Amino acid sequence: MSEERDVAAVADEVRAWLAENWDPERPLMEWRGLLADSGWGCPAWPREWYGRGLRPSLAGVVTAEFREVGAVGTGVGAGVSLAANTILAHGSDELKGTYLRPIITGEHKWCQLFSEPGSGSDLAGLTTRAVRDGDEWVVNGQKVWNTGAQKAHYGMLLARTDWDVPKHRGITFFVVDMRQPGIEVRPLRQMNGHASFNEVFLSDARVRHDHIVGAVNAGWSAAVTTLMHERGMAAAIGQRRGGKERSAGPVGRTKREADEETAAYRETYKWYPQRAGRIDLIEPQARAHGRDDDPVVRQAIASTLAFEQSARWTAKRARAARAAGKQPGPEGSLGKLSSSVTARAADRAHTMIAGAHGMLNGPDTDADGLIAEILVSTPAQSIAGGTDEIQRNIMGERVLGLPKEPTVDTDVAFREVRTNTR
Ligand SMILES: Cc1cc2nc3c(=O)[nH]c(=O)nc-3n(C[C@H](O)[C@H](O)[C@H](O)COP(=O)(O)OP(=O)(O)OC[C@H]3O[C@@H](n4cnc5c(N)ncnc54)[C@H](O)[C@@H]3O)c2cc1C
Repeated sequence: MSEERDVAAVADEVRAWLAENWDPERPLMEWRGLLADSGWGCPAWPREWYGRGLRPSLAGVVTAEFREVGAVGTGVGAGVSLAANTILAHGSDELKGTYLRPIITGEHKWCQLFSEPGSGSDLAGLTTRAVRDGDEWVVNGQKVWNTGAQKAHYGMLLARTDWDVPKHRGITFFVVDMRQPGIEVRPLRQMNGHASFNEVFLSDARVRHDHIVGAVNAGWSAAVTTLMHERGMAAAIGQRRGGKERSAGPVGRTKREADEETAAYRETYKWYPQRAGRIDLIEPQARAHGRDDDPVVRQAIASTLAFEQSARWTAKRARAARAAGKQPGPEGSLGKLSSSVTARAADRAHTMIAGAHGMLNGPDTDADGLIAEILVSTPAQSIAGGTDEIQRNIMGERVLGLPKEPTVDTDVAFREVRTNTR
């Protein structure tokens, strides 16, 4: 069948299903249960696991039809974007059966327990240890920068399970219950005043053996899947502007409950538009400050908008590759890097326009302190999900085929490797 006919057939099918089932007054959990049972909530997932097995381009058709009638979608956050995709690719049927449905309904919140004080870019150098004890594993160590961990029910945890093999081959990926005595979550205050990430201390925390994603010591490939999806997301954040999303259809109980859930979720991420540079504010700010006829400022604005536009095209190319059935690949790194470049260019433009006023914080300041918040939030765009330098390394090696960065620690037992924490 041609692409056009496929699109029309899927649109007809989802429209008919929505006409029969979408009731704006239905309780949110009941509606999300229908999304899971019908597969329309995550149409690109396999049919046997709450999806409809549609290719990503057709999944976009479903989103558009939902928007048309104002129908609410699945739960949001690291659960649906990272944990579910990793469990689908590497998890056992038991894990899929236990965790995918509450991710769709939004009942379970997730966080990512990857980074450690001594291992961020060098993630495979992590030293949190898990030791087997019968049907369970006992975990000890410290994680850091863990977004949303203070609200999460479950964590995607990487821990070292074999010290006598090279570093990438001794890591296991666990699903850990965050609400247990062995886990302590301490929020960290950031320089922009928000506290969206945390330190997480694991002291004799327990994980069931059947909660391993993939196999013992094979956690690195599952972690790579999570990171690929995360980079795609970070690039998308870079594309997001500050405004409200369009909403259609009557606002009933379902939408109100979903809005409450989204507001609670967004509390953690409310500075993310600022982190992407708030390009939407640049032109209005230039006019408000009377700088829109300054040729140097105009040049900075034009180059920022040009960066943003080319990043959009890169993101489109990545979406097209995914629609063609390819896994997220190095174009995720390219998109991620473009989002940092754009955020930095926006930073420069805002600084040129606002001058010293841009440093003032709080009410009665420039854009109610938003400019200051942008200036101290954009550095995060080049760190989260892998730094700019790491994206450049990936592109150099995997896209351009340049020689690999020399390493001294990938072929020896991890126990022999000297790290900054041991
Ligand atoms: C907003 C935000 C949210 C985050 N959320 C999470 C989360 O939910 N879960 C989680 O686990 N982590 C999270 N992180 C952590 C993030 O993944 C790490 O901060 C990141 O990978 C960098 O690691 P690091 O901070 O240890 O820096 P380091 O790895 O110590 O890097 C320090 C500097 O050295 C450079 N560098 C390091 N290695 C190389 C190299 N080989 N070649 C060239 N330069 C190099 C880096 O580019 C950087 O400039 C988050 C970070 C941010 C900013």
